[in-house]
Amino acid sequence: MNLTLATKIVDLPGVRAEHAMKLELLGVHNLGQLMVHLPHRYEWIRAQSGLADLEPGVIGSAVGEVTATKISGFGRKARFQAVLSDETGRLDLVFFNQAFLAKKIHAGMFLRVQGKPAKHGPGLQMSNAQFTIIPFDEVEQLDPNQDDEYRPVYPATEGLTSQQIHGIILRVLDQACLLLEDHLSDEYRQTRAVPSLRDAYRMIHAPETEEDVLSARRRLAYDELLMLQLGVHMKRAHLRRTLKAPPLPRTPEINERILSRMPFALTDSQQRVVDEISRDLAIETPTNRLVQGDVGSGKTVVALDAMLLAIAHGHQAALMAPTELLAEQHFLSMTEMLKGSSVSVELLTGSMPGADRERVVSKIACGECDLVIGTHSLVSESVAFHSLAVAVIDEQHRFGVEQRAMLRVKGSQSKSSEHEAETPHVIVMTATPIPRTIGLTIFGDLDISTIDKLPPGRTPVITKHVTPEQRSTVYHWVNEKIKSGDQVFIVVSAIEPGGKSDGSIRDLRSLMRELEGGELNDVHIAALHGRLKRDTREHIMHRFRAGKIDCLIATTVIEVGVDIPNATVMVIEDADRFGLAQLHQLRGRVGRGDKPGVCVLIGNPKTEDGIARLRAMVETNSGFELSEKDLEIRGAGDVFGTRQSGAPPFKVADPFKEFELLEMARRDAADWISNSPTLDRQADILARRRLLKAHGQWLGLGDVG
Ligand code: ADP
Ligand code: MG
Repeated sequence: MNLTLATKIVDLPGVRAEHAMKLELLGVHNLGQLMVHLPHRYEWIRAQSGLADLEPGVIGSAVGEVTATKISGFGRKARFQAVLSDETGRLDLVFFNQAFLAKKIHAGMFLRVQGKPAKHGPGLQMSNAQFTIIPFDEVEQLDPNQDDEYRPVYPATEGLTSQQIHGIILRVLDQACLLLEDHLSDEYRQTRAVPSLRDAYRMIHAPETEEDVLSARRRLAYDELLMLQLGVHMKRAHLRRTLKAPPLPRTPEINERILSRMPFALTDSQQRVVDEISRDLAIETPTNRLVQGDVGSGKTVVALDAMLLAIAHGHQAALMAPTELLAEQHFLSMTEMLKGSSVSVELLTGSMPGADRERVVSKIACGECDLVIGTHSLVSESVAFHSLAVAVIDEQHRFGVEQRAMLRVKGSQSKSSEHEAETPHVIVMTATPIPRTIGLTIFGDLDISTIDKLPPGRTPVITKHVTPEQRSTVYHWVNEKIKSGDQVFIVVSAIEPGGKSDGSIRDLRSLMRELEGGELNDVHIAALHGRLKRDTREHIMHRFRAGKIDCLIATTVIEVGVDIPNATVMVIEDADRFGLAQLHQLRGRVGRGDKPGVCVLIGNPKTEDGIARLRAMVETNSGFELSEKDLEIRGAGDVFGTRQSGAPPFKVADPFKEFELLEMARRDAADWISNSPTLDRQADILARRRLLKAHGQWLGLGDVG
């Protein structure tokens, strides 16, 4: 029979219908999918003549028949025991906390076990052994004199063992490999020391040595990284080729006017980033720049500078913030800075009354408004700009790649047909520092600027972790701080009581009542959360800023951007319930003025992750270090899977560990795209097809080429 990669599993030689069905459950429907159903680990099956050859304290593997089973103990203490026998002797198996195995393992079955046996009475015992059940039809083929074998272990399912999957794959592997066409030429592969696709799949499914597996994985990981990088570079080349943004050169007069609006001298670090951005904006190639800087590093004025440059050239600018509170705050502070100038500033958020909204939208459309500050409602369909030249996205980590793309589109609607492909310069800002590797991988289409120094006069925030029992002491101390003129944030993870009935979580309402009647009974407390109306929220923030409120009990609405220099104390209740990035952002709300800040984390973490997060917070103030720790704690897959990126996780590659491979893929992709921007040369066709399949959709590559 002639196989193709599309051949259905049932039609493969020697595959039983029930096995084909099980493979379907694993998402494997055809030969191609079977080839990419990769082992998740490998095991050495050592040559073994009998159970009697096992030695205490030495990892070994053996095959035997189950001759007896029993469960002893109850509930969580229950353990499952089995006796394994062969002609040479016996081995006792014990599995703690795995009473359910009684349903899987029965007398008469053959098992292959692997583990470290220990002396137990006269014989040997293996605890929590790794085991595979050998299907009955394979028992006869067991060869007691087999050689060492390095064997893949596949994700399996009820009724289909890893070994059965391996058997199916081995039967078709040679034929399937012949069907695999390589998108990399022999010469290309040789210079990079990666094997062909055929060899890679053969080695990953049927390795003879550990080196085979490493070599195969290297090729497959390289491909994943290369494809993503090709996609990102292709997109970038496309944007550069087809889109034009208004050039915004910085003349001495314009520079003078902008500087006169700045309330302070920029730090060297800010100035460097302003210069980098100015260089971008001066030409008609659309800017795509990520500005990263730790919380409080002063990203806002850098953004304002770029936006004023657009306005000075007679265009519009927009700033998109992730929360209404932050948008409102930017609106207030920028209105203040631009007081008395000719710049017209408007706010656009989702909760605005319809009539206000319409008024602003029409001002945006006719160009009457120069600077718009808003939430994601800025990218809603009804909003069309007259002439958008600079779009800034604040706290990019809260937005997806899609919103960035949508904001870019806003520019192209803004002009009539004579400038069909007008687009704004886009600047995104983040305080959640993106580890270099992720930056390169996901945001490979962005240029990156870093504000690496805080404005002068800051003293680092001191962070302490205390247990809930010390709460009262903390709030007594908070009272003293307030008496000496400081302001305080208290952050809770819930507004209402509920969820956990044992009262272990502090909610806003209960805590407020508790403090008003207790430690903080003689100071001004107010509550702030997302369910309040905009007017109320603004009123409260206004009074807090003016010092009429001493202490704000809030939810994470204050997480990003809130800037009250007189606030010096941040208390976070149930701190272990927050993520590391979130905790760091919250902490960034204090220590913004010249008085030192203190952050108190109250919590009784129950999980290892929770403990690790709080420890990391106490140990470092650096957002960069924290983001590296965060990666360690959460693992790479999680980071990629989240809204941070919108990018699909990798199956094989681990860009955090395989940094050199990533760099190589990046360089190769850049070269490749610069020689063949749309990959339409004959030799590139296969790579192009695979690239579009893997990343075309989320990168929006449909329109490329
Ligand atoms: P973030 O990077 O977190 O957005 P902000 O832009 O909100 O930081 O700035 C944090 C605080 O630092 C604000 O109060 C801002 O006015 C102040 N600030 C920013 N740049 C400077 C500077 N060069 N000198 C003094 N204060 C500054
Ligand atoms: Mg900010």
